[in-house]
Amino acid sequence: MNKKFIGVPTKLLILIVSTLLFLAVGFSSLSYWRLQQDYSEFQQNNTVQGQLQVNLHNDILRTKLTVWLESFTDLIQLSEQDDFSTLTKQLEKQYDALQLHLNVEDIWLVDDNQNILFATNDFPQAVRNNITQVFRLQEPEHRIYCPKSCKLLLSLPLLNKNGDMVVVTMSTSLVDMLFALKTTLDRDVAVIRLASKVDSGMNTSDAQVISASNMTLTESLLALGKPTDTLSAMLEQGLQIDSDNNSYLLNLLELAKQGNQGFFLVLIDDVTAFRAKNDAYQLRFILSLSLIFSLLAGFVYFISSPFTKRLLLLSNALPLLAQKKFDEFRQVDLKRPRMFADELDVLARSSQELSFELEQLNLVVEQKTKELENIAMYDLLTGLPNRNMLNYQLRKSLANIARHKSGVAVLFLDLDDFKKVNDSNGHNIGDKLLIQAAERVRVSVGEIDLASRFGGDEFVIVLSHLKSIDEAIEVAERVLLQFKESIKLGSNIFYVSTSIGIAYTESVTEKSDDLISHADIAMYEAKDNGGGQYHVYHQEMFQRVAHRVMLEGEVRQALAKQQFSLSLQPQICAKTKKLYGFEALLRWQHPDRGMISPEDFIPILENSQHMIELGYWIIRRCFELTKAINKYGLADIRIAINLSAGQFIDANLPHFLRELLSEFSLSAHSFELELTEQTLVKDMDHTIAMMQTLKKIGFSFAIDDFGTGYSSLAYLKKMPVDVIKIDKSFVFGMLENHSDFQIITSTIAMVKNLGLMVVAEGVETKAQLRSLSENDCDIIQGYYYSKPIPEKELFVMLDKQTTEGYWRVAKELPDNLSAGKSA
Ligand code: C2E
Ligand code: CA
Ligand code: CA
Repeated sequence: MNKKFIGVPTKLLILIVSTLLFLAVGFSSLSYWRLQQDYSEFQQNNTVQGQLQVNLHNDILRTKLTVWLESFTDLIQLSEQDDFSTLTKQLEKQYDALQLHLNVEDIWLVDDNQNILFATNDFPQAVRNNITQVFRLQEPEHRIYCPKSCKLLLSLPLLNKNGDMVVVTMSTSLVDMLFALKTTLDRDVAVIRLASKVDSGMNTSDAQVISASNMTLTESLLALGKPTDTLSAMLEQGLQIDSDNNSYLLNLLELAKQGNQGFFLVLIDDVTAFRAKNDAYQLRFILSLSLIFSLLAGFVYFISSPFTKRLLLLSNALPLLAQKKFDEFRQVDLKRPRMFADELDVLARSSQELSFELEQLNLVVEQKTKELENIAMYDLLTGLPNRNMLNYQLRKSLANIARHKSGVAVLFLDLDDFKKVNDSNGHNIGDKLLIQAAERVRVSVGEIDLASRFGGDEFVIVLSHLKSIDEAIEVAERVLLQFKESIKLGSNIFYVSTSIGIAYTESVTEKSDDLISHADIAMYEAKDNGGGQYHVYHQEMFQRVAHRVMLEGEVRQALAKQQFSLSLQPQICAKTKKLYGFEALLRWQHPDRGMISPEDFIPILENSQHMIELGYWIIRRCFELTKAINKYGLADIRIAINLSAGQFIDANLPHFLRELLSEFSLSAHSFELELTEQTLVKDMDHTIAMMQTLKKIGFSFAIDDFGTGYSSLAYLKKMPVDVIKIDKSFVFGMLENHSDFQIITSTIAMVKNLGLMVVAEGVETKAQLRSLSENDCDIIQGYYYSKPIPEKELFVMLDKQTTEGYWRVAKELPDNLSAGKSA
């Protein structure tokens, strides 16, 4: 919207001028109308006056003639005479005197038979008409009659003694009257003849002057006259004629009409002065109007220009507010020393106030922005830089590698078992612990290094300008040392360790995200190795992680595609050969890679959600198989299920197992849960609590791979364990290796002492079996009796190998040629 700019003064000026113009036009047309009115009044007065004078003179003339005639008839005693002969004679005698004194031109004496008794001239029709009228009305009759010049015709009836009537008619010239009128009216007069036309307008130039007090003037004026509309308009308004420097008003009075000829008395007024007055008035009016206009324009400009100047000043200054130049804005002088304030002063004052308020607001915004930046860059709980800051600083450090020719290291820290502290002591204590931990991390690094909180119980340290990775390792060791000391929170004492992954680079192309994720991978390695230590990232770690990720994906698919199955390996009572139960072992028939050993993927999936999912599938399958075995006729059979550490940490496990028990209406006594020593030592308290919970339900526990880990009798006593499984590695060499044999025999003795049962796995030969039996081993599991039997073949195999729950012992076979089929 780009409108044309018109300033306020201009607008005001336009407004005022148009108002004035309107008023001026109104007033001037009013006064012009007044003038016109005056003029036409003047003109009408003239006409009326003229008419009156004409009538007056007419009357005087008639009266004079009438008086003379009356006195004349009296003198000749007409009323006592029988005829009119005396009258005729006397009239003839008096004619000269009449001509001389009363300007009578002609006399006609006519009797009632239309006989002319006396006439000084012809007997024209006009006279005849006049006379006829008198005879008819018996009254005097007069008219103006203009044959060549205008005359007054006066006819009077006269009676004799007998009552006979004659009419005497006298005509007298009007020239005298004309001069008398000129004198009395003080203006020139004329008599003219005009032919009245019907269609076109009247034109005075056609007029013929019959007589005039000023012949030249009259003729020149009439020649100048322009055509007028009608005769009546001419009679009413008169004629305005301008000649040379003078103006004249011609008023016409009709004297007589003969045929289409009219005879008019023209009154000529010199209205030059009048016109001049009119013109002067108009000039004065225009002059004073323009003077007022210009004065007003000046006044408006004078009043409004400082106003608009200040307004423009203010509008030019306002953008300064947006530019936050508040001081500069306030220096703009918007005030004027004035007695009275106006709207602009109010506006100036409010904009000043606005500038102060905006400045205040700006300060607040700046402060809040800083706070927000802090929130954005720093962790609220620990006050350490947060992830945003870390990313920013790490990118900066990596960018500097080329310049400083040095290395950058990222240390990824994760507190060990922090979740437990949070779960058992509450988040409040957890937070306090994190603050302390953060402080320990912070004091372990130098001024130029960055210690940040990555999230949860994870911290990331960035070290720059390193000569070698050794400097990073030094820092890691310092951190580990810091965490050796206990953390005291109120009455609680915590021992918190941390796992550290170190990733180091001297490469210019290294990406910050990659470096962090490498350190993260190394940290997991440290954690998998028991925590409280550091690991340096190397390429294999990444491959392991990649492999793990791939496996996780495959396992999920394998579950859906039912590529998993179980094989059951029989466990047999050493003494009675009774079938004690089976150990359920997982099998994965991969479509491309064939049969994959559980040892190749279970350790890798350990701790992952996928393993828990897979674990639940295994447990459910074991329940189904148990049900089937019971149906087959083997009621008192125990199925051993291997549980990984991750499964055992899952709080949902007891609930899941209870649900299955009721779903399949099986007793928990039918199941033995195998835990490795590693699982046991990982989180002792938690494991014991879980074992106790499950024990209450009725499940029994076996310690798998006994002898390979840190198992000690001390903690065996604390746990609700029922079975100890001697690891197959001892069994394999028991007959050749004396120490293995010793371990087996002492373990059996000790376990028996505790009232527990012993299972030997990996029994492949009759010799091993014999030795174990002799040493009081309760249960034998191994290829000697049977390899793990695929679930599909289970019942065929049982048919073949068992009789009423007892394992059929084949003829003595040479060692190493065990009876079991391949799994
Ligand atoms: P483990 O629990 O120690 O299982 C015993 C392993 O020894 C089985 O290997 C079994 O086939 C093998 N074995 C049994 N008798 C003999 C023998 O006479 N000679 C020899 N050389 N080997 C024998 P497998 O089935 O490959 O399982 C390996 C490991 O995978 C298991 O060791 C166990 O730790 C794990 N595993 C298997 N199934 C599961 C499962 O369902 N859940 C969990 N969490 N782990 C499982
Ligand atoms: Ca096992
Ligand atoms: Ca084992």
